[in-house]
Amino acid sequence: MTSMGMEIRRFESSTGARLYLIPVRAFPRLLANVYVVIQGEYAALIDTGSGHADSNADLEAGFLSLRRDWNEPVGWADLDRIVITHGHVDHYGGLPFVRGRSTAPVAVHALDRHVVEAPGEAMRRQAEGTARFLGVAGIEAATAQEVSGLFRASAAHMSPTEVATVMEEGETLDGRFEVIHTPGHAAGQVCLRLGDVLLCSDHILAHTHPRLTPAALEPHTGLAAYLSSLDRIAFLPGLRLGLGGHEEAVTDVYIRIGELRASHLSRLDQILALCAAPQTLAQIAAALYPDMRRGSALLLAVQAVATRVEYLVLQGQMSVSGEAVLHFVQK
Ligand SMILES: [Zn+2]
Ligand SMILES: [Zn+2]
Repeated sequence: MTSMGMEIRRFESSTGARLYLIPVRAFPRLLANVYVVIQGEYAALIDTGSGHADSNADLEAGFLSLRRDWNEPVGWADLDRIVITHGHVDHYGGLPFVRGRSTAPVAVHALDRHVVEAPGEAMRRQAEGTARFLGVAGIEAATAQEVSGLFRASAAHMSPTEVATVMEEGETLDGRFEVIHTPGHAAGQVCLRLGDVLLCSDHILAHTHPRLTPAALEPHTGLAAYLSSLDRIAFLPGLRLGLGGHEEAVTDVYIRIGELRASHLSRLDQILALCAAPQTLAQIAAALYPDMRRGSALLLAVQAVATRVEYLVLQGQMSVSGEAVLHFVQK
């Protein structure tokens, strides 16, 4: 039984490829999109879901449905390629499950390669970085430890997968996918272009704006990188359709880029106004997101604030002081 939002959808590119969107339940409240791209004898899997039981079951059911309902006689053994669009667990966490069914070579961008090849280590480093970050943000130590413990818990059951192909900006993968490096949401995120269709991962989503982290916490992320990666896509002519890592297809990529830019720049004035006197990131987050006070919601709120504050500092509109805990004030 499929519910709304869980149906497979089929798209075609001007290059003659058929693209199937398979929605999977990556986490209890998060659907992720996995794509199967088929052209002639070639078949590629784009992302893998999270590896959680529901996510794997949905992916398995999706493959069965391709054969049964869509007249595509493609099974796991027919895959020629597995692409990971970026090193977030809702996209690569299913790799060990997929590896049990397919030996197709895995491709990922150089900057996210370490996440796929040593996910436990990457998560442990994220846990440490997060604890330090929440400390300088002015979150009390016990809460910071509790939040960073969420990463440690996931680190325990992540298995490594060997990467066969490291993707680079500007190359054409397998003679078909134009690789466009779009750092910001993740350091090694790529969009893949197939003629008039852009597999845009979490860079461009139809309804929400992607979560950003400050570049101080993770190099090649942050608002400045994200905005220039939006420009990178905005200046590519001839895109008809965007297929994101979550949510519906993006029917007008260029309009959506304008909305995302506006949405990410919003709150900058609000943050400046809040910082007439020096404020910690925790204080700004409490003022802007009063409902997001614990666990992963708290982390999201403080990261969202830190990303914008970092941008304002880079733009010369704010200055920073302090050592153990940082304070920010408008210039
Ligand atoms: Zn992501
Ligand atoms: Zn995602």
